[in-house]
Amino acid sequence: MPSTPTNADLFAAARSVIPGGVDSPVRAFGSVGGVPAFITGARGARVVDAEGREYVDLVGSWGPALLGHAHPEVVVAVQAAAARGLSFGAPTAAETELAEAVRRRVPPVERLRLVSTGTEATMTAVRLARGFTGRDLVVKFAGCYHGHSDGLLSAAGSGVATGGLPGSAGVPQAVAAQTLVLPYNDVSALEECFAARGKEIAAVITEPAPANMGVVPPAPGFNAAIRRVTAAYGALMIADEVLSGFRVGPAGFWGLEAVDGWAAEAAESKHAQPTPSWPGGPDGHDTSWRERAAWAPDLFTFGKVIGGGMPLAAVGGRAEVMDLLAPLGPVYQAGTLSGNPLATAAGLATLALADDAVYTTVARRAAQIGQIVSATLNEQGVPHRVQYSGSLFSIMFGPAAAAEGVRDYAAARAQEAWRFAPFFHAFLDAGVALPPSVFEAWFVSAAHGDAEVERIAAAAPAAARAAAK
Ligand code: PLP
Repeated sequence: MPSTPTNADLFAAARSVIPGGVDSPVRAFGSVGGVPAFITGARGARVVDAEGREYVDLVGSWGPALLGHAHPEVVVAVQAAAARGLSFGAPTAAETELAEAVRRRVPPVERLRLVSTGTEATMTAVRLARGFTGRDLVVKFAGCYHGHSDGLLSAAGSGVATGGLPGSAGVPQAVAAQTLVLPYNDVSALEECFAARGKEIAAVITEPAPANMGVVPPAPGFNAAIRRVTAAYGALMIADEVLSGFRVGPAGFWGLEAVDGWAAEAAESKHAQPTPSWPGGPDGHDTSWRERAAWAPDLFTFGKVIGGGMPLAAVGGRAEVMDLLAPLGPVYQAGTLSGNPLATAAGLATLALADDAVYTTVARRAAQIGQIVSATLNEQGVPHRVQYSGSLFSIMFGPAAAAEGVRDYAAARAQEAWRFAPFFHAFLDAGVALPPSVFEAWFVSAAHGDAEVERIAAAAPAAARAAAK
């Protein structure tokens, strides 16, 4: 290895010891080609690679970096926690503080358990639903991604979509058969599925604002329909807010849509969002959300922002269901590093800083960036549509996407995805790092300021020309 290795040197070395050279598949640039940037540091809205190149970052660690990278107050909180000890395997008061902070923001979360990854959170939610209902089947929607547990990989989004895979090898057929996959945004398919097998279904798990097949906003009333149908058959509704939770608003997408009345059509016409509210009020004691909320799931899963960049995620919801978890009940779940003090400190500091100003800034910057890129694509005659769910957005390419929008995974897959790789690389060459897949959302942070937007605007014309070819 040379004394100042290039990204290519580091990738070659990595591939000799790590499968594919990466610890999570999409990082390998498989669908866009080329060599991934090996990151040496990040601050605010910028990341720096091993060759000393600085990029405006729209990956945001795939979601956690709501405040930008290495926010000084979060770093200080983690350093202070580290000085007190890295892990105790015993309860700490900070875990209760974090659970209370979540409940203040998302009051249907009467109980919360901390875990280390989103995968664990959804896996536990499904186990809880099965334990509660005594039923085995789980419904998921094609293109939604809920982590990499066996039962949830069928027709999954994110890296499974990027790799063009139907699911994963190594999942027993008998396990896959417990998951029923339905098209997203299709109330009739949901109703028919429940009419046929409703009494066997433990839960519907959904991304209330899917962002792992690109951003596909829920049709107005779709989340409420899931709630209605599941309740009618005694099944649970699991809202997987690992990605959207605490990112699109203080109470995640549930707060934005169910309480604040966010609607996809309105967002599309204005590119603006309602100001997200705090459904439980500033102290969490306001119960009027119960009358105001259009829908509320039984269980939520959280990840990414809740850990502020550290490995922390959570499952929460109705006490009656959550209290089935061991040690109170028969549903087993555990973790050596669950509620880790460094991760908990990062999460607490992040949520404490994620105030109205942060959400307003992120939504404004996301709309601004989406509009700039869309305008340059229009100048080059590239058919596309920018799809938003709150501050989450991505670009769908092709005439069908432009004309009708993308409402489900079949349409997301049918887009002109080939336009993305040259578009991506033109941005990268100009110092703007997009997520390396057309099926991922672009992540904006509160640290994205005018300078970052200008860099994106300067890079956009060449990227649009590349996408036009
Ligand atoms: N659920 C959703 C909606 C996600 O976006 C992800 C990851 O991207 C997960 C679950 C899995 O989380 P993790 O990667 O922390 O296991």
